[in-house]
Amino acid sequence: MVFDETRDLWAVAEGVAAFFAHESCGKCFPCSLGTPHLHRLVWNWRRGEPKRELLEELFLALERGSLCGLGQAAPWAVRSLLERFEGVAR
Ligand code: SF4
Repeated sequence: MVFDETRDLWAVAEGVAAFFAHESCGKCFPCSLGTPHLHRLVWNWRRGEPKRELLEELFLALERGSLCGLGQAAPWAVRSLLERFEGVAR
C-alpha cells in the first residue's frame, strides 16, 4: 500500500489491527486474545493513550506464541509504524 503525507497512518494501523482481530480463527490463545487486544491498544493510541510497553510485550507474544502466520504477522504493521513514525504520524 502506498500513502501520501495526508493519510492518517494510525487510522490505517487501526484498520489493519481490526482485520487481524476479525480473521483470527480462535485456535490458539496468543492470537485469539492478542489480536483484539492489539486493536484496543491501537485504538487507545490514536486517542492519546499510548501504552508502548504493553504494545512491545504484545508484539512478542503474538510473534512467538501464535501457531500460524496470521497471528505472527498481526503486529508487523503497528510495529513498523512505531519504529519509523512514532510521534510523527499520530
Ligand atoms: S495464529 Fe493462526 S491458528 Fe492461532 S488463532 Fe490465529 S489464525 Fe488461528
